Amino acid sequence: MTAPQPAGAAVPGDLGAARADVARACRVLAAEGLVNDILGHVSLRVRDRHMLIRARSVSDPGLLLTRPEDVVLTDLDGDPAEDLGDRQLPQELAIHGEVLRARPEDAAVVHAHPPDVVLCSIARLPLRPVFGAFNIPAMRMAERGIPVFDYYGLVRTRARGVQMVEAMRGGRALLLRGHGLTTAAPSLAGAVVTALNVNLLARMTAALAAAGVGWSDVPEVPAEDRAELPDLGSAFNDDLVWRHHVAKLAWRGLEVAEAGAPSPT
Ligand SMILES: [Zn+2]
Repeated sequence: MTAPQPAGAAVPGDLGAARADVARACRVLAAEGLVNDILGHVSLRVRDRHMLIRARSVSDPGLLLTRPEDVVLTDLDGDPAEDLGDRQLPQELAIHGEVLRARPEDAAVVHAHPPDVVLCSIARLPLRPVFGAFNIPAMRMAERGIPVFDYYGLVRTRARGVQMVEAMRGGRALLLRGHGLTTAAPSLAGAVVTALNVNLLARMTAALAAAGVGWSDVPEVPAEDRAELPDLGSAFNDDLVWRHHVAKLAWRGLEVAEAGAPSPT
């Protein structure tokens, strides 16, 4: 029987399944078009004050082919809790550290640069609740309003990370003007699926605008129809969708090899 680890202790070597899940999250985001090539990262809280976070080595294959060994263990300040070798932490590590520090209920953070999200943020196209049962969680997010962080640069310092967290106003999703999105949730599935939903809202908004439809003329879902849309719960909205995307990785030949084995390329 393994001796219990003190909270916050460095625990290299026993986090294989969690590392593989973070790698899968990166692959899903890439496979669904939310990240291109090498930019974007995902983190997952372990213990109270540590996180597994996607790093980048000299042999980095890009987000689509993220391997478990591309995921490293640090504390919330980014101080390594294991030997990082040639793996470099993201410049925007503060996005993850500050969200997880400020929001103990959340365990996972996604940061990505989806082109349609960037387009809507720079064109000042708000993501409005214009569809209904098509995707209820996405509609609810738009109904509540998805805030925008009005800063075009990298989030590289703790101070900027704190500003970004404040801009989220406690919600799961934030647009970063001319940059991308940040999502946070109690589970990896929740953070990833929220990012997918924000991207869907942005894609439809951008498509309607590109089609010459006056965006402000598109009607929102009537209040009485919204009231009848059920909340199907996180097991349906997040976990089932996550499992679908993990299965689709395998179907596409993008399954993550566990135990740190090299992934097929
Ligand atoms: Zn970024």
